[in-house]
Amino acid sequence: MSDLHHFTAIELRDSFIRGEYTAVQIAEFFLKRIEKHNQQLGAFLSILGPRMLLKAEQLDHKRSQNKPLGKLAGIPIAIKDNMHIAGEITSCASKFLRNYKAPFDATAIRLMEQEDALFTGKTNLDEFAMGSSNENSAFFPSHNPWDLTCSPGGSSGGSAAAVAARLSLIATGSDTGGSIRQPAGFCGIVGFKPTYGRVSRYGLVAYGSSLDQIGPFATSVADIALTMETIGRHCPHDSTSLDLPPESYPLPTNLHEIRIGVPTKFLENLKPDAKANFDHSLNVMRSLGAKITEIDLDILKYSIAVYYIVATAEASTNLARFDGIRYGVRSKEAKNLEEIYEFSRQDGFGKEVKKRIMLGTYVLSAGFQDAFYKKAQKVRTLIIEAFEKAFADCDAVAMPIAPSAAFPLKAFNDPIEMYLQDIFSIPANLAGLPAISVPSGFDSNKMPLGLQLIGPQMCDVPVIQYAHAFEHATQFSRKIPPLFNGNPP
Ligand code: GLN
Repeated sequence: MSDLHHFTAIELRDSFIRGEYTAVQIAEFFLKRIEKHNQQLGAFLSILGPRMLLKAEQLDHKRSQNKPLGKLAGIPIAIKDNMHIAGEITSCASKFLRNYKAPFDATAIRLMEQEDALFTGKTNLDEFAMGSSNENSAFFPSHNPWDLTCSPGGSSGGSAAAVAARLSLIATGSDTGGSIRQPAGFCGIVGFKPTYGRVSRYGLVAYGSSLDQIGPFATSVADIALTMETIGRHCPHDSTSLDLPPESYPLPTNLHEIRIGVPTKFLENLKPDAKANFDHSLNVMRSLGAKITEIDLDILKYSIAVYYIVATAEASTNLARFDGIRYGVRSKEAKNLEEIYEFSRQDGFGKEVKKRIMLGTYVLSAGFQDAFYKKAQKVRTLIIEAFEKAFADCDAVAMPIAPSAAFPLKAFNDPIEMYLQDIFSIPANLAGLPAISVPSGFDSNKMPLGLQLIGPQMCDVPVIQYAHAFEHATQFSRKIPPLFNGNPP
């Protein structure tokens, strides 16, 4: 009972099914770990203890009656707090929604629940998923399990910290410009952003609707595949959901005949640690049979500029519904309708969110739309075309997930400097491509680094397969941060 946190999700599920542990034992074990460690990590905004124990009892009952058990039976799963679990708070780490109870389950939640997942709690994030460090949470920042003075990344930093510290074995995130992959890289775990449309966005609080995608965090690529088998389904409630049959993921351990494209020029300014690690990853892939080819994706240098126009424009529209009337805590000082809107939004939103709403409103305003929004859309199309051209010569593109390992909390005074850290994660969102971050080793400060593999649209299965071969050869994702490796719990 003392080492359940050393299991992968699949290992834990199988030992539950074999009867080695009860679901109640598993639930109690992880709830105790959360209780013990959440204070220092700030990973969870709410813990779903009673609900989790109830579900665990039901699972034990189901097993005792030899009824079929779901694919996620007994796996503790954390949920980013911008996804709805019916009857629970969805705060989006915003004061504005601190009392908001979700009226329905997100589709991804319903699918996981049907497969007998045990939801542990709702995880911390940058307010409305806007940020790269978790410092924009209205409540408290989350910390990196490898070094508590560092950021776990963002915006899904709470989910990444929870899985890296083994307070849950899987977590969900949402990825609009890197919010799953960058925190996964910073925390030394695996994170996957599916093809746009592969996972339903129904029940996810929208940020940039043409970019948002739900995906999993886990401590192994096989657990990512398992989660995708569960949540990668067509959903009639999301008009952008792909109408494709569910996929399964055989996981090979070599890369024979696979062509990996490297955008050498785009990567020319990599710092020494990141470069050495990336070169090592390329050698690993070579040794597994991959052919490394050079590709031209120099246009990706415009990604950040395009993203901060498209994402903020969409955010300004999406966040209009938080007005103290339809959604959000209403200001008590307001005396008329106008003031309700004004004061509620003033009190409810944090600084970064306000800034993005204003930026987005500006780029959409009459007179500026052509200069900013339309131009950004045109460059977005060029980026999509550049990827299509690159994929004529390769099966996947490789690059680091971020320019460096996790940075210290409060490292950036200038927000633009922090925006620039997303240069490698944003392109996959602009082009709607599946992309994974898989642990690739450590820098000279012993902080984890991540390798990113990006595939053509709909190639979620191959991307996950390549990452699996890489993980099989390297095994970095099995490393547990020393602070959280102790027994028990
Ligand atoms: N870091 C990016 C931003 O600040 C991406 C966030 C995300 O993917 N939700 O918007």
